[in-house]
Amino acid sequence: MGKASKDRRDIFYRLAKEQGWRARSAFKLLQADETFNLLEGLTRAVDLCAAPGGWSQVLSKRMYEPRSEKDREQVKIIAVDMQGMAPIDGVTQLRADITKESTAEEIIKFFDGKKAELVVTDGAPDVTGLHDWDAYMQAELLLSGLSIATYILEEGGTFMGKVYRAANTSRVYLQLQRFFKDVCLFKPSASRSSSIEAFVVCRQFTMPEGHVPCNLTLEWFDKPEEALKNISGKMERTIVHLPFVGHQCEYDADLSYELDKDYTTHDAVQKPLTAAYREVIEKTKSINLKKNYFVVRHDEEETSAEPS
Ligand code: SAM
Repeated sequence: MGKASKDRRDIFYRLAKEQGWRARSAFKLLQADETFNLLEGLTRAVDLCAAPGGWSQVLSKRMYEPRSEKDREQVKIIAVDMQGMAPIDGVTQLRADITKESTAEEIIKFFDGKKAELVVTDGAPDVTGLHDWDAYMQAELLLSGLSIATYILEEGGTFMGKVYRAANTSRVYLQLQRFFKDVCLFKPSASRSSSIEAFVVCRQFTMPEGHVPCNLTLEWFDKPEEALKNISGKMERTIVHLPFVGHQCEYDADLSYELDKDYTTHDAVQKPLTAAYREVIEKTKSINLKKNYFVVRHDEEETSAEPS
């Protein structure tokens, strides 16, 4: 697909390039901030699964850039991803896997005895197209983000993360409600209505009595009586409905927009340094695929960079 046709088809992809965001997903965090005022006055934040860096750019723009040189010294933003990404002012990068406990330890070291006010995660595993499997993996990744938050988030802090609304998501919601007094589901305008993607916005972190930070997984729900200990009245319910908050703006992520006659396409703001799909292509080259193969789809639409 040519750049112009993608610009026409995806307004947020086009706006991201025009406004200097590395990924269209930057709008999702901007719209969350617009709705919940998440970033005002913050100095310590963690961006999990951060590459190519759209959300980290938003954090830098809101938390670092507006401050004087002296005040910038107290700003601590860490961006974590398995992929490398180009530098961003005021953001420290950690190349690591968020499912590993050692990553939590590295983040704790970075904050040097203090705790973060905000943990965000836009993590997405490679999409296989098998919906149940994809949703399961997405839920596991979100819980890895939550696990890290339990180590590093200050009391009263905020957590925001991506979920796919699917069969197992109620179990994730229950987990989140153990740790946060206020949990809701947010759908930014930049997220297509046709997509099952949404974001949990969880405020007022409170560590449950006796909880020792550890890796939380969906398997943990094999002991539902444990999981539900602190949530009165939820035992009989298998489906949890969170308050749903939408976002409105002049653009619709599901529509195609005509381009002006004199429209010129913009280049990607920052091409990914390493693209996950390249590794898969390299691996599959060395395998004789014949008939039995599966396809790993890289979600190229999320980045403003053009895959080559
Ligand atoms: N929020 C980013 C932005 O605005 O540029 C986009 C994030 S992208 C949709 C998802 C990222 O999750 C990918 O860069 C991928 O490498 C990362 N990821 C997936 N699983 C991960 C894991 N276990 N640990 C660290 N990063 C992971």
